[in-house]
Amino acid sequence: MPIVKLGEEGRWTNYHCTGTCDAATRFALRSGDAPRGRDEIAIAAKSVQDWLVEAAAAKRRVRPLGAGWSPSNVNISSQSWLLHTRRFNRCFRINADDVRPGIDAGALMLVEAGALVDEVSDKLEEQGRSLWTSGAGNGQTFAGAAATGTHGSMIAAGGIQDHIRAVQIVTPGGIHWVEPDVGVMSDAFIAATGSAPLRDDAMFAAVQLPVGALGIVTALVVESVPKFLVRPIQNLRKVDCAALDWLAEGDFRRFSAAYALDQDPDFVQMIVNPYKPFKRPAMLRFLYREPWRDDYPRATPGQLGAGYDALSLLGRFLNDYPWARGALLQFAMKQGYASGPDVDAPPVYGSWGEGLDTHRPLADLFNASVTIDRADLAHVFEMVCAVYARHGGSTVVTLRFMERAQGLLAPARFAHNAVIDFDGPRSQRTADAYARVLERLDAEGVAFTRHWAKSCRLDALRVAADYGEDFRRWRAAQRRLLPDPADRALFGSEVLDGLGLTC
Ligand SMILES: Cc1cc2nc3c(=O)[nH]c(=O)nc-3n(C[C@H](O)[C@H](O)[C@H](O)COP(=O)(O)OP(=O)(O)OC[C@H]3O[C@@H](n4cnc5c(N)ncnc54)[C@H](O)[C@@H]3O)c2cc1C
Repeated sequence: MPIVKLGEEGRWTNYHCTGTCDAATRFALRSGDAPRGRDEIAIAAKSVQDWLVEAAAAKRRVRPLGAGWSPSNVNISSQSWLLHTRRFNRCFRINADDVRPGIDAGALMLVEAGALVDEVSDKLEEQGRSLWTSGAGNGQTFAGAAATGTHGSMIAAGGIQDHIRAVQIVTPGGIHWVEPDVGVMSDAFIAATGSAPLRDDAMFAAVQLPVGALGIVTALVVESVPKFLVRPIQNLRKVDCAALDWLAEGDFRRFSAAYALDQDPDFVQMIVNPYKPFKRPAMLRFLYREPWRDDYPRATPGQLGAGYDALSLLGRFLNDYPWARGALLQFAMKQGYASGPDVDAPPVYGSWGEGLDTHRPLADLFNASVTIDRADLAHVFEMVCAVYARHGGSTVVTLRFMERAQGLLAPARFAHNAVIDFDGPRSQRTADAYARVLERLDAEGVAFTRHWAKSCRLDALRVAADYGEDFRRWRAAQRRLLPDPADRALFGSEVLDGLGLTC
């Protein structure tokens, strides 16, 4: 039986301690040992469906959990049945006769929904393949990361959900295999997974980013590219505010030439101190992609510049000594940032997966962001930093870039996106300062969206307005998957109801 009950009803707190489920009954979905992935997910999906029916009979709502990382509390639901998926994490190769004509089976992998991004990345790299983007850490489950549109700063890529080519999703009424119109997997393969095929572009775009409100995702078909190397450059540089114009125009080459290498970068990230962002050095990270070669000298994640956690340790100081905020943040940036390898250091290389780490839990974390049209960056960024700093925001501000991401509810919905993140220690003042930023953007008429996983002060009216027709298409897909209102309510929670996704 792939689902086991974990103890009696009690409390469960998410990974970063931003929310607690009271009176939660916890269950775990676990991998089996079937030799073929399709057999294993057929067994798991059936037992998930039975579990959903039992939860409904017990008059309990359900909440599927990935790694529990989301600080927005989209993973929190009290008086519910929680389904931990973390141990449902096997990955399987796909054979040429499992796919429809014209599909490259070698680029695909069948992934159980609880596999961590890190585990998927490792499995792909063992096979000479790679993900082409992911978030700054890789300790989320693949399904959980896709559910909220997780992204990094690969400038020509979208979100992690763009890797998904097919989704198995389970509701009380059915086990569905969702693909785009053109199809991906053979009918025989889909039948062997115990699912009914649902080939429909709009449905597929809905389930690529379901925010945990469309059913339980049990398996994914993930696409990959040939493995590649990245050369990181990481440095602290004073950035001229004129450089924002280059970034807004997408002239990343010019930005790179000014602050790192005179080459086209594949990844550009800038972390600034919002207190005088152009007078104090910013933390810059660039990645340059190169073809794979086996003989590159191996480097540690630290040498590759992974992680910048030390910044989160300063919360109390920043809250208690407002007059020192700018200087303290700068001190933390310097101490906490793996400065280097810089341009003049001997180059180091790593695969995509080697340059990431799985992260350690942080209590009292504040995570928020806004995604804007990159073209607005030049006139918005300084204003955002000024408002945030004036009202006591006590985190660094990170700037990342990405193209339009797939999924009807993808926050990266502009053709070219700049994402401004406010990540660091939690305090009421920081949350209030972020709220002032949002008010100011609205007052200036700047279009923006917010991250589903972060503490972004979203509500149902705003979600409907931000996503417009795409939101209506997503709701229509939801009504097809979950035609009975009671089944839609089964996936509800205070947070998801508040976002207008489940009521
Ligand atoms: C330290 C830290 C760093 C981060 N870095 C980034 C970053 O660089 N870029 C970025 O974009 N985001 C980032 N995030 C946000 C993070 O990627 C998201 O919170 C992501 O959703 C976490 O995945 P998870 O597996 O923990 O999902 P959870 O938090 O467990 O769940 C997220 C949502 O998905 C649903 N869900 C999970 N599994 C399933 C399933 N099998 N079926 C159906 N629904 C499911 C849950 O019910 C919930 O609604 C970061 C968060 C933290 C805390």
